[in-house]
Amino acid sequence: MQTVRGTKDILPNEIEAWQNLYKQVLKILNLYNYYEIRTPIIEQTELFLKGIGHTTDIINKEMYSFTDQGRRNITLRPEGTASIARSFISNKLYQKNQIQRLWYMGPMFRYERPQNGRQRQFHQLGIECIGSSNVMADVEVIQIAHSILQQLKCPEYTLEINSIGNQQERTNYKDALIKYIQLYKDDLDHDSQQRLNTNPLRILDSKNKKTQDILKDAPCLSKYLKKESQENFDLICDYLMLLNIPYKINTRLVRGLDYYSYTAFEIVNNNLDNQYTICGGGRYNDLIQQLGGPYTPAVGWAIGIERLLLLINQNNNQIENKNRFYIITQGLKAQKKAWHLISRLETYNIKFNLDLSNNSFQKQIKKANQYNIKCCLILGEKEIEDHTITIKWLANYSQETICYKNIITYIQKKLK
Ligand code: ATP
Ligand code: MG
Repeated sequence: MQTVRGTKDILPNEIEAWQNLYKQVLKILNLYNYYEIRTPIIEQTELFLKGIGHTTDIINKEMYSFTDQGRRNITLRPEGTASIARSFISNKLYQKNQIQRLWYMGPMFRYERPQNGRQRQFHQLGIECIGSSNVMADVEVIQIAHSILQQLKCPEYTLEINSIGNQQERTNYKDALIKYIQLYKDDLDHDSQQRLNTNPLRILDSKNKKTQDILKDAPCLSKYLKKESQENFDLICDYLMLLNIPYKINTRLVRGLDYYSYTAFEIVNNNLDNQYTICGGGRYNDLIQQLGGPYTPAVGWAIGIERLLLLINQNNNQIENKNRFYIITQGLKAQKKAWHLISRLETYNIKFNLDLSNNSFQKQIKKANQYNIKCCLILGEKEIEDHTITIKWLANYSQETICYKNIITYIQKKLK
């Protein structure tokens, strides 16, 4: 049997990269005072309908929804922000602390055409800085994304940033955009024609060449920003400069979700053969209120982990067994003694792997080699009789027999 289309097993030889990522991310987010939150993978479908918006691809084409046995409408979460907003409201997190800095990591589900870096079950790491409309919060979250990518040695990427203004500014812009695009309506790609009526801003996002050509002379969103929005955006750019975070203003960047306002940004990798967005984020000042909570401005982003790992993890998927000791036994007495050895290794935090076969010494040593192990601990009849243990180093096949009771000291010395 196969996995469901668009889903993947993450195998033991790949998991170290995931665990390492988690560790590094935890360290950085801890420094910045962000706290991990884990929300359920299933939510009421209504949450996403209200939160993400009826005219988005996610809602129209990509949701994994079903009715459960109690006739509830349930959806496997397609993204994290709506769930966090829901949790913020239902747990009244705002009563404890005006500012909530939260992060999450976990699987998301979208019914899309699977391809490299695009799956139906994929994982996101995301952060949300909730409770401030100060542009410093925008800069903080961008700085964290940059820091994480740097720490993980993500090769070249570009931060693209834009301000999509507030509701009023966008409405004014939408009117102008529609007026312009109407002139070329018949030349638009099919999706963009549809969006003209539902979500015209998303036309700016079209990958279609002809549509892109038409857009070259379209009115520019930045011209529709009022003084305050423009000044705030300029301040963000100033701060990014101060932090030495390179960025590119992309006035066509609008993002796929409805809930954004003001700042929108994406981080894109620079490899032209295989270009995609690693991180998407922005400010969402109205979402929490829209979902029934108090007015609470917020800003955040999500990184696609599979895409990130494709970039940083190109040829590093051997299981690391350098400091693991392979326990080889021969005969029942030796097997019995192995339990004693194991409990001592555990006490001293020394990694091991107990051979489970009754094979010859030679075959057991061969197995150790296959696991990339450097050192075997051998207990045979002779060792039991003499209260010794034999240590075999696989790099040069040198071996020595030492007093059994000295084994921990011996290993600790070698591991230094
Ligand atoms: P795209 O335009 O590539 O579909 P998106 O705008 O739908 O991306 P977001 O909703 O912003 O993506 O999600 C944030 C990040 O999550 C993306 O930048 C990407 O790295 C990752 N991501 C989104 N959808 C998928 C998917 N189907 N498979 C793998 N990663 C994904
Ligand atoms: Mg998408």
